[in-house]
Amino acid sequence: MNRNEIQLMEKGELHVHLNGLVSTDVIRSLLVRDRTDLPSGFDLERDLNISLPADSLASYLKPWQVLRLIPKSKSCLGLIVESAFLNLKSQNIKFVEIRNSVIYLALLNNISVDEALYWIVSEIEDASERHKINAGLILTVSRGDYAPEHLRSLLGAYEKLGRPSTVVGLDFAGNEEISSPTETGSLFLHAKDKYELKVTIHAGETGRIENIISAVNEFGADRIGHGTAASKSVEVMELLKDRGICIEVCPISNRLTNAVNGSELHPVIDFIDNNVPFVICSDNPSIHSSSLTEDYLEFYRVTNSSQHLRDMYSNQKKYCFIKGLYGN
Ligand SMILES: [Zn+2]
Repeated sequence: MNRNEIQLMEKGELHVHLNGLVSTDVIRSLLVRDRTDLPSGFDLERDLNISLPADSLASYLKPWQVLRLIPKSKSCLGLIVESAFLNLKSQNIKFVEIRNSVIYLALLNNISVDEALYWIVSEIEDASERHKINAGLILTVSRGDYAPEHLRSLLGAYEKLGRPSTVVGLDFAGNEEISSPTETGSLFLHAKDKYELKVTIHAGETGRIENIISAVNEFGADRIGHGTAASKSVEVMELLKDRGICIEVCPISNRLTNAVNGSELHPVIDFIDNNVPFVICSDNPSIHSSSLTEDYLEFYRVTNSSQHLRDMYSNQKKYCFIKGLYGN
């Protein structure tokens, strides 16, 4: 299969962060327009993109030093969301679940979390309508001491806004080496039960198999983000297969973060061999100067399987959190 054929295929996108999807040209122009103070030594031409495997997680995360400084108004958020949807459209993506942490949006703009959630839900709904791309929002909670507090405040805002149907799930992300209060998992489970929100957890990206096990058993994960460590344990592969938990495989991101290093074969080969469900996603395509098509191509380069790519759209529908796409 060639790039052109893949680009034309209908696709779903189940793991993409809003700030990593907006074109870096748009980010650059917003930072310049708003005369935003940049961190010392940050070069807007050089440091907004990661095109080679990073030598540390800190260097991979460098673009976020400025990504967290925008948007500074609702109209600016509108420009960001518009750019994100134009990029989705260019990949023939028919439905998307966009992730955002919302809390930082409230802090940056000195508004309540309720207001911040309203901003993002309304901008996504408008862009979804304009571009005819079905869209859901996944609320990301960061690992660490504040995780329970942030989750409570996000759920409070969700409740106050009348449980908007655009919000489809919860995500747990961030440094897997740090621990979070033990109540965090039960809060995710409770939210799942009370609001029927689905759960995806970034886990096993930096080798910690135990984070995948706790994502499933303590957080009620319906999907796992990355999960590259899963292939190291037969038991974990069995667990994912038996429970029908889908891994969001992000081939290019995994190379750039060194979740899979240059000399290793991508573990998606083991997922295929062991019948563990997976979908191909792009994570932060604009930061990677890339696109979902490039992730499909990288998958194809590793597996040589066009059949999996042909089945991908129906698998993306099967495992998506947006209701009604797969009779769910
Ligand atoms: Zn991610």
